[in-house]
Amino acid sequence: NDRIVTGEMLQEDAREETLRPRFLREYIGQDAVKENLRIYIDAARKRKESLDHVLFYGPPGLGKTSLAHIIANELGVNIRVTSGPAIERAGDLAALVTSLQEGDVLFIDEIHRLPRTVEEVLYPAMEDFAVDVMLGKGPSARALRLDLPSFTMIGATTRAGLLSAPLRDRFGVVLNLRYFPVEDLSRIVLRAAAILGVAIDSQGAHEIARRSRGTPRIANRLLRRVRDFAQVIGDGRIDQELAVEALTRMKVDAFGLDELDHRILLCLIDRFRGGPAGLETLAASIGEDAGTLEDVYEPYLLQSGLLSRTARGREATAAAYAHLGRVKPVDET
Ligand code: ADP
Repeated sequence: NDRIVTGEMLQEDAREETLRPRFLREYIGQDAVKENLRIYIDAARKRKESLDHVLFYGPPGLGKTSLAHIIANELGVNIRVTSGPAIERAGDLAALVTSLQEGDVLFIDEIHRLPRTVEEVLYPAMEDFAVDVMLGKGPSARALRLDLPSFTMIGATTRAGLLSAPLRDRFGVVLNLRYFPVEDLSRIVLRAAAILGVAIDSQGAHEIARRSRGTPRIANRLLRRVRDFAQVIGDGRIDQELAVEALTRMKVDAFGLDELDHRILLCLIDRFRGGPAGLETLAASIGEDAGTLEDVYEPYLLQSGLLSRTARGREATAAAYAHLGRVKPVDET
């Protein structure tokens, strides 16, 4: 998946580290999440205790990793970063947690992909700050319980529904990140432009923001791409006209949809009279896997009101017809 409009990290985003907000006050938007975190962080600091375990869930590119780093920075502790698929064996996790210091943050991205055997080591680690290690093999083997320093586990997932109930229950704080409104994304684009030294006006930033699918990572990526255009076809400055020109050439439309999104909506409109069409049927018609359609392609179309999901299947909304310049057939019931 290397669409320009994907929320997943691409090779070209490797330098986004420089744009990462480091403290809560630099993190734009998601006010409800920030207010909660502010209270928990201040309370933990006052009591000189570790922060309760935190689970972030929401689509890729909305700032889950950034918030994990922010929490560690605000608390003034170290952060260890890993991911579900990177921890293959129970011993890997035991080694990680035994190397933590009092109050540290352990961040596990894609926590829904943690192997079950590893998850079982995590339960006592999170609940009792302890791990059980087996010494020896066979009849003489015995279990030894090692105490751990109290630490804060931060998990991130795009698929909260895939988390097992016992794991989910061990997070005291569960926070949902939602797609950002255009005004917040505009501010994110202006902030990134200032850091990168790009000349941009507010209309230029707004144009990039509205095509960024509610996702800061996409906003930053489009800004870097538009900057390249500005340097080649313009004088380096980004205004609305230049942003429209560049993004049109990149085939990112006014709502941030690309050709794949168009293919999905047009398939519904042209082949299924706007729907309803079942997930499997629609996926087969566009030659994609049903799971990918549901998890990766659909969320933004649903969020932006172009697609609706009913008991009978997927339907293209009136807004989708209008956006794609098609006429909605009259119901003949
Ligand atoms: P996730 O872990 O949810 O995939 P990240 O935390 O890696 O997302 O965020 C992706 C990029 O988006 C970050 O590098 C950062 O530059 C930018 N970003 C995310 N949230 C914000 C925000 N609220 N303000 C400014 N930049 C942000």
